[in-house]
Amino acid sequence: MPGPRRNPALLLAALAALLVVASAAPAAVAGRAMGPGATTFAPAPGPATSAIEPGSVGRSSLDVRATYATTLRLSYGTRRFAVHSAATITNMSDGPIDRVELNTAAARLGSLKLTSSLVDGRAVAARISDQTIIVPLGGILPSGATTVVRVKYTATLRTSLSGSSWLFTKAHGIVNAYRWLPWVSRRTPFDRPNHGDPFVTTTSPFVRLTVITDRKLVIATSGDRVFRSADGRTQRFEARDVRDMTVSAAPDFRTRATKVGDTTIRYYYRSSANAAATLDAASRAFRSIQARLGDYPYPTFNVVQSAGGYGMESPRMIWIPYGVSSTNLRYLVAHETAHQWFYGMVGNDQARQPFADEAAADFVARYVTGTKRSSRCPTGRLDRTIYEYTARCYYEKVYIQGGNLIDAARRAMGSTAFWAALRRYVEVQRGGLVRNVTLLQALDDATPLDLGRRLFAARFPRDY
Ligand SMILES: [Zn+2]
Repeated sequence: MPGPRRNPALLLAALAALLVVASAAPAAVAGRAMGPGATTFAPAPGPATSAIEPGSVGRSSLDVRATYATTLRLSYGTRRFAVHSAATITNMSDGPIDRVELNTAAARLGSLKLTSSLVDGRAVAARISDQTIIVPLGGILPSGATTVVRVKYTATLRTSLSGSSWLFTKAHGIVNAYRWLPWVSRRTPFDRPNHGDPFVTTTSPFVRLTVITDRKLVIATSGDRVFRSADGRTQRFEARDVRDMTVSAAPDFRTRATKVGDTTIRYYYRSSANAAATLDAASRAFRSIQARLGDYPYPTFNVVQSAGGYGMESPRMIWIPYGVSSTNLRYLVAHETAHQWFYGMVGNDQARQPFADEAAADFVARYVTGTKRSSRCPTGRLDRTIYEYTARCYYEKVYIQGGNLIDAARRAMGSTAFWAALRRYVEVQRGGLVRNVTLLQALDDATPLDLGRRLFAARFPRDY
């Protein structure tokens, strides 16, 4: 992209991205600076407008601004799952990139077939590696420039709940589709010895999802429905400032809702067992957590009875598995609700630094539900990746010991200073990706005590 100054170029690129999304016709359109002082932007079709320049740098980056315009054709009957997604990507990093890495769990769980990949309308040789679609840009995308990456795939939902299948399945009459939309990420192994979340996604300012189904379905997503066709088989959802777009669907989902402040909390369910208790647990947890950590910035919070498996967080939505025991319900709902702040608003690399979201969410959940307990595994390090903990001790170390370490910081520095620091951390880091030390430092900075030396160093040798 020509242009001697970076800021106008970025502005134009951002404007171009908005125009592409707003047109709902994500053809190959890219920002083109008209020179110094240019204030107009004229979209023109075809690869001639591409900002991609010849060359290669062997570099990708998470520091991009990406919006998504995606169509999902979902057959409830056959479990066919066909995706056509256009990501409008502006390179916000300091240097050029020559590939993007798009994450989709369907590559590991849905027998994914990639049928097309285009960069600004030109076919490129994308390939699948583990759960990543690696898309070469066919040249370099300069800093500040924008490109449109389109991928199409077909996949099939599973029917089981075992292993990780519950993330992408249809069971108990409910479709679970987690981390399926090809999303800007970095290459991250899917296999792990425990139930850690092998994902890292950046926040998108705008996602438009059209879902076309073989029959009328009630669909819960991370966005708001903005359109439904007369026959009920085409629905469109939009979301802003989310790091994923999870889809849950059933033909006979029922709903019940309540309000906490300005937020509507809506429970989607097929089995009415625990329905009142689930919504009650969600609204209590939401109210307590919001009072401590600051306002939830979206109009709705969806609590969804999922096909089964585990409780799971998504932006603006949580999954509570079908058949969850009533004794575990209050804690589980609080844990997943706390992820709206730690993961949803303040993101992290969940695979490589799971402490940042899991320990914080579990501490908050156990604090507001009064369910703090001690760990059933030997005291150990908290700075490891999900790939380095055993199935038996991952939860006991990262969640329980991690949460108890945060609680030790609270007791040492005093509740008032602690909650003020945590609230400020959410406010400052919202929309970004933090590291474990970002959280630890935020607490340490709010007290004259040396929490690093006193509490954190022994558990985080990689950082202290
Ligand atoms: Zn969690």
